[in-house]
Amino acid sequence: MKLMVIGGGIAGLSAAYYAQKQIPEAQITLLESDSRWGGKITTERLDGFVIEGGPDTFLATKPWGVALCKELGLDERLHGTNPHKRNTYVLHRNRLQPLPDGLAMMIPTNVGSILKSRLVSWFGKARMGLDFMLPPHSPNGDESLGTFVSRRLGREAYENLIEPLMSGIYAGDGDQLSLASTFPYLRDLELKYGSLARGALEMRKKMPSTPGSRSAFLTPTTGLAEIVEKLVESLMSKVDMRLNTPVASITRPSTFDVRLANGETLDADAVILATPAYVSGKLLESTAPSLAADLQSIPYASTATVTLAYHQADLPQPLDGYGYVIPRREGRRALACTWTSTKFPHRAPDGYALIRVFVGRAGQDADMPRDEPTLIGLAREELQLTLGITANPFITRVFVWENAMPQYNLGHPALLKRLDAALEKHPGLALAGNGYRGIGIPDCIHSGELAVEKILESRPVENSHSLASA
Ligand SMILES: Cc1cc2nc3c(=O)[nH]c(=O)nc-3n(C[C@H](O)[C@H](O)[C@H](O)COP(=O)(O)OP(=O)(O)OC[C@H]3O[C@@H](n4cnc5c(N)ncnc54)[C@H](O)[C@@H]3O)c2cc1C
Repeated sequence: MKLMVIGGGIAGLSAAYYAQKQIPEAQITLLESDSRWGGKITTERLDGFVIEGGPDTFLATKPWGVALCKELGLDERLHGTNPHKRNTYVLHRNRLQPLPDGLAMMIPTNVGSILKSRLVSWFGKARMGLDFMLPPHSPNGDESLGTFVSRRLGREAYENLIEPLMSGIYAGDGDQLSLASTFPYLRDLELKYGSLARGALEMRKKMPSTPGSRSAFLTPTTGLAEIVEKLVESLMSKVDMRLNTPVASITRPSTFDVRLANGETLDADAVILATPAYVSGKLLESTAPSLAADLQSIPYASTATVTLAYHQADLPQPLDGYGYVIPRREGRRALACTWTSTKFPHRAPDGYALIRVFVGRAGQDADMPRDEPTLIGLAREELQLTLGITANPFITRVFVWENAMPQYNLGHPALLKRLDAALEKHPGLALAGNGYRGIGIPDCIHSGELAVEKILESRPVENSHSLASA
């Protein structure tokens, strides 16, 4: 079998990795348009600093990231977030306010801590309490994250507390994001326990709390690029891996014809598309027009990260936590700020501070600057306004991510069903990547693994027999 994997981000690399394990006889080719592997994962190591351009950590509670790291021999190199300075703040009326203690699954569960918080007014706190009394509601079909949380906890708690945490993950607009596609467990809590807070508390009790257990977020010592490097190393001898090889289109006269931008055509029995959904749609335009149209309808938001390094002594106050998030209603152009050298102390030498500012969110694409000087200026302005930092950073690094964050908006679950139905008509074709069922790294890894399973399922029966008896 000739298998073509298109897209060398974490999803495509994972697909190639699981394919060579599960279909050892397959001839696998991995095609990547860029001059490097990893897609959104990119790490710079510079004078003792570890600078992440895209993601900086992954969720350990979703098993697929940890499982792959173990297979790659990276388990011992995974670090959790700093357990000694766990504060996270929310910008509220231009001042940083601590997130209340006792958030479980991002839902406040500690009444005392909510009562003390300045993030929500007394009226808003009383409204949050209604969560314990309001009966579950059964809207027809999908519901937006904003509507759902506002319905349970009130609009104020949503805007000041929940929106910046949840929508921030997607750089999204909570009033557009589909609850069912982003945080489906919240709806389950409502239905099962009649209250988000009660449900989140019950779930927390069920979670194992072994002392010294790992942090919920993990990352390798010198950055997430370690995962990419290990994957590439393990694939090099088994997979035909081609950088600088953009694919232009896919047609299917009998087997698949994968036409490259340089005019060459490669034939394949099976194809895994691990490119962003709008690229996959473009590639399939002539072969599967309605599938292509659905893929191209998934919106993506653009975002940028600006990393700045300072001497600790130049900061007016110590960075005593992981950073802060900025609610949409604050009207700032930044989305969040991570205090990297506190969150992951091994990422900066002693005596130095590494800070990362996120810019850009859904609905503000046109307003997001793309050029380095403006982005650095914007980040410095944010740090001055909120933290009083006026010193010159001695390192600055900017990464602009155009159309990078898929938006699982209202209607996304129905769209996924249509995609699945359309793919049934195209045996040997599978999708992987962040555009569909999870944006985080573990989800993307899992999507690569599932795509390989789908290819295996669609093989002719005789082949499956011979595989089983081999
Ligand atoms: C700033 C930022 C911060 C993030 N933070 C986190 C985080 O902390 N934790 C977390 O879990 N997730 C985070 N994410 C999300 C996560 O990084 C991404 O969802 C994930 O890396 C996407 O992987 P992917 O393989 O699906 O897509 P990509 O990484 O986009 O890979 C797709 C690949 O396809 C290639 N390609 C495109 N067109 C073609 C073509 N025509 N032919 C061949 N190849 C092509 C691209 O060059 C790219 O390499 C973050 C994302 C961003 C942008």
